[in-house]
Amino acid sequence: MKVYSDDEVSGEALQNQRIAIIGYGSQGRAHAQNLRDSGYDVVAGVRKGGKGWIHARADKIDTAEPEQAVEGADLIAVLTPDMAQEQVWKEIIAPKAKKGAALMFAHGFTIHYGRVQPREDMDVILVAPKGPGDLVRREFVRGRGVPALFAVKQDATGTARARAMAYAKGIGGAAGGLIETTFAEETETDLFGEQAVLCGGAKELVMAGYQTLVDAGYQPEVAYFECMHELKLIVDLFYEGGVSKMHDFISETAKYGAVVSGPRVITEETRARMREVLKDIQSGNFARDWILENQAGKPRYTAMLNADRQHPIEKTGAALRERMAWLKTPTNA
Ligand code: NAD
Ligand code: MG
Repeated sequence: MKVYSDDEVSGEALQNQRIAIIGYGSQGRAHAQNLRDSGYDVVAGVRKGGKGWIHARADKIDTAEPEQAVEGADLIAVLTPDMAQEQVWKEIIAPKAKKGAALMFAHGFTIHYGRVQPREDMDVILVAPKGPGDLVRREFVRGRGVPALFAVKQDATGTARARAMAYAKGIGGAAGGLIETTFAEETETDLFGEQAVLCGGAKELVMAGYQTLVDAGYQPEVAYFECMHELKLIVDLFYEGGVSKMHDFISETAKYGAVVSGPRVITEETRARMREVLKDIQSGNFARDWILENQAGKPRYTAMLNADRQHPIEKTGAALRERMAWLKTPTNA
């Protein structure tokens, strides 16, 4: 697998091309500023007086009403929430996009699950930074970049791949390391990662560990420190040097416990469940359920989120974090 660095990627394909950013949130705000600072021609399609408009003006980004921004654009970056993209396509982009324009996404969900079928004359591309918008901006300002994935779904103009790579370079994605993928791979791995490991898996592991200690009669505050607070130290070691760095930094006793007990918790049954989660993502079942949930006004989703927010670990944690002065003056800003 090839990882492209900044000097291997050309910005040429987007020279003298107008880029419209639709959706000025976490990603939109970072992309617009980085692209502008990379010398590209950028306009934010935002409603006058709205939050996006206020932010874009504060960032000194040119603004236009979304329809006007789309009309003149060679590349349209769709950076609204995934669930709003179908409507944005139907109402704003499809009627106005010019022939041969590139339709760009930062996550493949909408295209991969067939929610939008772009016109045949358009390029359909993906540039997905592997980090939140504020990091994409912060790293760029420091002269570096967050790694990114890029993909081409439809190449109507013969320049789809070059435009995707040029866009990725413009937001700092090549400086961070740029990898080619497909819409299917980006979408399915992104969903699987957040569900099974990062957001879903890690959360359940922490809560289950906490509950096990509290049910056995230990103090909730002590359980919180052991099962949630200290996770950050471990994650930092993973991030900096993988499992090996963690093993280099923890005690012999912790290491022995890790290798003998870890596999007692994450068992063959857990792996089978992970494969089920992946199957639901691949088959489109997860996407269908999530779309239906949205259409129904998100009742199940809201109830389950509230249950998480009301879990006892949240109350215990909030009280302890109150005393952690360093959390009030973040050092990574
Ligand atoms: P966000 O919620 O931060 O911002 C979305 C913006 O779209 C907001 O400005 C909102 O006001 C606007 N918006 C909402 N509904 C709209 C509508 N109907 N019409 C026009 N504008 C509308 O979203 P985000 O996190 O920046 O996500 C944008 C895309 O980037 C998604 O496809 C997401 O999957 C992808 N992505 C996000 C991250 C991340 O870490 N946040 C990382 C990689 C990719
Ligand atoms: Mg994700």
